[in-house]
Amino acid sequence: MMAQYHALKAQASDCLLFYRMGDFFELFFDDARTAAQVLDIALTSRGDGVPMCGVPAHSAEGYLARLIKAGCRVAIAEQTETPEQAKKRGGSKALVARDIVRFVTAGTLTEEALLEPRRANVLAAVCEVRGTIGLAAVDISTGRMELEECGPDRIGAALARLGASELVCPEGWDEAPLDAIGRPTRDFSSDSGEVRLRGVHGVATLDGFGQFSRAMLGAAGGLIAYLDHVGRGNLPLLLPPVVRDGAAHLAMDEATRASLEVLESSSGGRRGSLIDAVDRCVTGAGARQLAEDLSAPLTDIAAIEARLALVQWLHDDPLLRDDLRAVLRALPDVGRALGRVVAGRGSPRDLGQLRDGLSEARRLRDHLLRRADRPALLDELLPLLGGHGALVDLYARALVPAPPTERSQGGFIAEGYDHALDALRATAGNARRAIAALEAKYRDETGVAALKIRHNGVLGYFIEVPAKHADRLMAPDSGFTHRQTMAGAVRFNALALHEEASRIGEAGGHSLAAEEAHFEELVAAAVSQAEAIARTAAALARVDVAAGQAERAAESGWCRPELLEDPCLEITGGRHPVVEAALGAKGERFVANDCRLSQADRLWLVGGPNMGGKSTFLRQNALIVLLAQAGGFVPAEAAKLGLVDRLFSRVGASDNLARGRSTFMVEMVETAAILSQAGERSFVILDEVGRGTSTYDGLALAWAVAEAVHSNNRSRCLFATHYHELARLADTCEALSLHHVRAREWKGDLVLLHEVAEGPADRSYGLAVAKLAGVPAPVVARAKTVLEKLEKGRAETGGLAAGLGDLPLFAAALDAAEEKVDRLREKLEGLDIDSLSPREALDLLYELKRDAAT
Ligand code: ADP
Repeated sequence: MMAQYHALKAQASDCLLFYRMGDFFELFFDDARTAAQVLDIALTSRGDGVPMCGVPAHSAEGYLARLIKAGCRVAIAEQTETPEQAKKRGGSKALVARDIVRFVTAGTLTEEALLEPRRANVLAAVCEVRGTIGLAAVDISTGRMELEECGPDRIGAALARLGASELVCPEGWDEAPLDAIGRPTRDFSSDSGEVRLRGVHGVATLDGFGQFSRAMLGAAGGLIAYLDHVGRGNLPLLLPPVVRDGAAHLAMDEATRASLEVLESSSGGRRGSLIDAVDRCVTGAGARQLAEDLSAPLTDIAAIEARLALVQWLHDDPLLRDDLRAVLRALPDVGRALGRVVAGRGSPRDLGQLRDGLSEARRLRDHLLRRADRPALLDELLPLLGGHGALVDLYARALVPAPPTERSQGGFIAEGYDHALDALRATAGNARRAIAALEAKYRDETGVAALKIRHNGVLGYFIEVPAKHADRLMAPDSGFTHRQTMAGAVRFNALALHEEASRIGEAGGHSLAAEEAHFEELVAAAVSQAEAIARTAAALARVDVAAGQAERAAESGWCRPELLEDPCLEITGGRHPVVEAALGAKGERFVANDCRLSQADRLWLVGGPNMGGKSTFLRQNALIVLLAQAGGFVPAEAAKLGLVDRLFSRVGASDNLARGRSTFMVEMVETAAILSQAGERSFVILDEVGRGTSTYDGLALAWAVAEAVHSNNRSRCLFATHYHELARLADTCEALSLHHVRAREWKGDLVLLHEVAEGPADRSYGLAVAKLAGVPAPVVARAKTVLEKLEKGRAETGGLAAGLGDLPLFAAALDAAEEKVDRLREKLEGLDIDSLSPREALDLLYELKRDAAT
């Protein structure tokens, strides 16, 4: 047996091998150690000391889910013959043949229990052809396949958008991302890719699907070859590939996605993310579509308006929306059921889901067709919801109302669908009734009231009586034959029982075979229409997304954004959906703020105290852009947006300490990317850039970056900073204006108003924030002393910003300040303190203070 095990293991060296033994999957050696630890199950050892552990086959899914989550890959080695077959083949000692039937990997799951309903599960392949990166991505649980090409510098952004759970690359490729799985280089040749794609779709040429570059074909080839390997020749659902056009989508790099917390919050989970605050979809497929929309907002006004019009229609008609959502909520996940069926992992229940989902889709279509005022997008979607009449009718006739997940037991084909099957079932039913009648008869004959006819997997049907009555059946002429003696009972057989039981067995075997054959036909019927069914599923998801957006907008008074080509950004009463929800949960109110950027006033420098709401303001505007271009309403009273082609968000280093690399280095790498990529149609938010280094360096960098974004990139930009020295930029940068988040000091306490107002921040309130945060009073007092010293030093030496006076244009402002300091110094130097009376000293103090203030 161990020889067989090692031979299988050799085919799956990078996987845990699940080795089927009867009702269990067993793991051995290091596999056993790993699995026992991840699954928290007992590690035992065989007689020869080999470590092992096992999981019951019928509940293997749950264990698989945990192993996959922990980053493992699993190979499933099943028994490919029954023990009887093995005996027949090789005698009583023959080993049951086993083979790996499937590899279970994170990117190739289809099982409901292993997938998250609201998250797409993407497998991606990347390769390079002469300096160009090809990227292929598929969600095999729904079959959607996308091809893309980009330069080597954009691959990070592309992968960040996809959020793939598994990535394959050519073996030994230098540029391969760290966690990629290496695959034979020949799989990635563009020729074999083309052949594979043609083969999958049964076409002689790919022209009908679009134009694919060599790099795209190479990546597609690698992807399909991997799927072939993982499924052991069983390919999953693959819809015709769609070429992704980078320019059709708002570009966001990885850092931007992370800092805007689009699909995941910075702490990792969905909680606290944008999608969590927006998602009101009632189906898993809708939630997956929304995630995709938010990951890849559009850049085409017509396409965005089409989505918005549908949202508006559903927004303005709450009754219709409620009805629609109630229907959608009850829908099964058609796309994923289809994915399982096509991958050869479908169950009767999946077929039932297709039937129910498709018939509801048709009803929904008929319901919506009655409305005359339909928006255009709906008119495109509605035809996709129907067209499965024949399949639905077939399934309606063929399947019982609630088919089981397990198909080996039969019982899923409805009565009346197949008369021969009905007859077999009737035979079995009659025999069962006959057996029930026999029980009464045998009780009568033997006079043993406790006699029972029972059934188990080993003996089949048998008669059982308590041991004390067994004698009556033991007599040679009793008509009963002894089968087994248990502790308190004895078991018998009888001729009539045997005959009826054989009838059941035979009929049962035949009906199982008949149901199996029907199952294959029913699966084939769905497979032949897989593409159309997938389109229906996608249309349902699109309707759900729009209804969810409408619901969300209605909940909190969001508005429909107005989109323009002109690069402006005018948001009235904008709010941050995540912060607002968090405050709302605490019973606090969010302060809405306006933002008005235009070509002539395109860079806002936002100052003000820490915790004043700068980051929140910056992000809310970026999120509003993102939501609008994804085709949804936005958290604002009104929003006029010039289309954005690239969105950038950067956070100064000290907020990002968890990220490993030298944080300041990261900050600068990310900033460099903006300076090289952002353009006139981009929107950039920079939050405390320059914070990750010393004050002088930081100020200098922040200064230069702001200047460059203003004058070179000419992007719309919100720039938050606590360096008030930057305010001087307003003198040279004509399209830069100064703003601040308002704060008041009231009776020694700081009050943060969270209002964005015009003009520079007056000071930084750092100590007041520290006090607010609970820093002990003596520490705050001490800091105050230090600050006074520092400020005094600055006054004497010309200070932190002194050198800036050399920059053109600002000299005048600095001169005035210096003059004042000089005047004060002169006054102090010319003073003979000993000659002053206490009264004069006091007066002088008042005078100095007045001078300093003017
Ligand atoms: P900063 O970037 O200025 O340090 P943040 O934007 O991080 O400040 O905001 C700090 C906290 O202030 C937020 O966590 C939130 O609780 C609160 N806050 C921010 N903006 C608002 C607002 N507009 N209305 C109400 N509370 C706000």
